[in-house]
Amino acid sequence: MFPFAQSVSTRYPVLSVYLNKGPALGAQLTDVLKPIKELELDHAQEMSLRADIEKISDLRLERETAPAIGIFSCDGEGWFHMERLHRSVPDFATTGRRPYLRPVRTLPRNTRTKVAVVESRSASLWLMEAGQIHRVDDIVVDETVKKNYGGWQGYSERKAHARSDELVHRHYRETAEELLALHQRQPFNYIIVGGHKTDTREFVESLHPYLRNLVAGEFVIDPHTITATGVLEKAAALEAAAERERREEIVKSIMDAEGSTRKAALGIPDLVDATNLKAVQSLVIVTGSPRVPGAICDECTWMSMAGGECQGCGAEMRLVSDVVDEVIEAVLRDRGVVEGIGPDTVLDDYGAGGLLRFAVT
Ligand SMILES: [Zn+2]
Repeated sequence: MFPFAQSVSTRYPVLSVYLNKGPALGAQLTDVLKPIKELELDHAQEMSLRADIEKISDLRLERETAPAIGIFSCDGEGWFHMERLHRSVPDFATTGRRPYLRPVRTLPRNTRTKVAVVESRSASLWLMEAGQIHRVDDIVVDETVKKNYGGWQGYSERKAHARSDELVHRHYRETAEELLALHQRQPFNYIIVGGHKTDTREFVESLHPYLRNLVAGEFVIDPHTITATGVLEKAAALEAAAERERREEIVKSIMDAEGSTRKAALGIPDLVDATNLKAVQSLVIVTGSPRVPGAICDECTWMSMAGGECQGCGAEMRLVSDVVDEVIEAVLRDRGVVEGIGPDTVLDDYGAGGLLRFAVT
């Protein structure tokens, strides 16, 4: 992701702009660029920045369908990138030596959820993604084999029941196979099952353990009167609850490590220290947590909260408006993973946390 992340310019400002899709993108852009236009720059830098702004103004942003976009431009170095984001972010613009990628690196993950509305003879499969849902497949049980079971055996209640059960099971099996095939083609994060209570229960129980592990919940709905909105409403609530639970588990793993092996860091100052030692294995940032000023050494990439002389090499450090962005890029460079998570966990108090490869305190 973002091969241009390490496109550095020491000569020209690199402009990064985030815009949320709104009714007045032109006005939003003007607002967000105001502080940028007041920067003190030399002539060549000013010409580069002016060209960046012109290019962005010339985009037909109102045609964009994505919830938000990020634009990264450095005319002086001759490059320009635009990214479509799957969620909205606050409007923001900044300049630096490289693209400011924190907002896009820390978006909560985009979930893909498969919704199966089942009953004993049919099922509809839906895909829910980015707040939208659409019906992708309908499965109807093929009853033509019933001749093989036939009434000639004597219409016993028991036989009829057995045949009916067999059909239901076959139908559930086929639906599950279809789900598995879809998952293998393009994986989804969750399965949510709707229908009458006894049907959803039975269907979930018939799933292979591998798929059953993905089940985030069941909801009651009448398969004969379903609408996309109805399915979306119920499934989205279950998905949100599952994501909340996942968030809490992630945070708990950090808190547990902090309390036991000390292989964890909480808060930006500790994460800066751990990142300097290349200790951060997985970094978790609360999406939208405040920017934290700090400093970085351009000679050896050492970071600090305050600046001054670099502890790594003695060079003078450069102040940055958000050291979190530097931490993120450093962790990724060191083959760690970075994830943004939503609010309402104890991590809110720290803004960020991480699991470490080794204890640093
Ligand atoms: Zn240094």
